[in-house]
Amino acid sequence: MNQQELLNDYRENLLGVFGDPSLVLTSGKGATVTDADGRTYVDLLGGIAVNALGYGHPVWVEAVSRQAGRLGHVSNFFTTPEQVSLADKLLNITGAPSSGKVFFTNSGTEANEAALKLVRSHGNSATPAKKRILALDHGFHGRTAGALAATSKEAYRTPFEPLPGGVVFVEPTTEALEAAFEYDVAGLILEPIQGEAGVHPLPEGFLAAARRLTREHSALLVVDEVQTGMGRTGRWLASQDVLTGEQAPDVVTLAKSLGGGFPIGAMLVMTPEATRVLGPGNHGTTFGGNPLAMAAGLATIQVIEDEGLLERARTVGQGLRDGLAPIDGVAEVRGEGLLIGIDLDLSQFSTDAPAPAVVSEARDRGFIINATGPATLRLAPPLVIEGAHIDAFLEALPTILDAVRSV
Ligand SMILES: *Cc1c(COP(=O)(O)O)cnc(C)c1O
Repeated sequence: MNQQELLNDYRENLLGVFGDPSLVLTSGKGATVTDADGRTYVDLLGGIAVNALGYGHPVWVEAVSRQAGRLGHVSNFFTTPEQVSLADKLLNITGAPSSGKVFFTNSGTEANEAALKLVRSHGNSATPAKKRILALDHGFHGRTAGALAATSKEAYRTPFEPLPGGVVFVEPTTEALEAAFEYDVAGLILEPIQGEAGVHPLPEGFLAAARRLTREHSALLVVDEVQTGMGRTGRWLASQDVLTGEQAPDVVTLAKSLGGGFPIGAMLVMTPEATRVLGPGNHGTTFGGNPLAMAAGLATIQVIEDEGLLERARTVGQGLRDGLAPIDGVAEVRGEGLLIGIDLDLSQFSTDAPAPAVVSEARDRGFIINATGPATLRLAPPLVIEGAHIDAFLEALPTILDAVRSV
């Protein structure tokens, strides 16, 4: 079947929650993907910050294939060497205190569900119980009911209310956070850089204030690094430079890049207080910790280390941001490493929502990018993306913007 026929069948047979997909992809190599009609694209979105190693990295392919031939799944009545190794490795690279422990999930939203249950249980064990969980305006934590309850976007929430209660949204400013803290706060969940909102970093000093306030009120600090973690920003955790050692968060959640394309998530429970909350019988998952996912995670970390991809994310990301900023039609460039948000200059376009048109124009010219809002683009390319791909995109973008301007 050709691409159009496959897309027609998709519409027929798949639930339309994602809208119509624009391409049918059949293969990938490095930072490029190929569609069912044989056209190749430079992928500047990386499966939404997932494909850190790009596509078909030989070390990853070998590790996952080997594991598939050896042991594909065991129940959580048992463990595997890969599970033990990945937990150890994650605690190590994230600088977790010696008290640190890991719970594996299959996705980001499940890692956040686990974290929210942990916070709820922590709050319930206080006397009197602490019933409120703070989350930030514009924050995104996933689509399952608990994580959605901590996600601020009305359009995602409203059709599904009532959602699990007790979440209070706070403006992401230090003053608003200070004002929101009272005895009854059980925990605070935040992203160090708000990815789905358009790659907005938290204000200077916010993370330190969050750590101080949660401590002062015996509340737990949950840092959602599902999008920002695992090297995306040039560090294993985006929060690592502030929230480290004594200042470590109570909980960190990871997913997206963690498996280099294999579905996996993790909740890292860092502090002694937090590790005491959940015990036998309190939580579970059938697939979490699956050996294939563990092998994928170990291979991903190994390649990031062996190929110096943290450093690469920093230098290539800086080059990309420096190249984007002066382009006519770009109003602002944000982000760290290879997680980049671009605001378009609305005064130059005849529509107040040019971003989706830019995405489709870019696709027609062989580049995959994403719009997080009407005038905001996001880039989260594989950490292995080549300089030539970046240069090609920077060269094409003015023409892409011109084409959108002229409609
Ligand atoms: C993508 C994302 C999630 C949800 O992860 P899924 O794997 O889609 O469930 C949660 N938090 C953040 C910050 C994310 O970017």
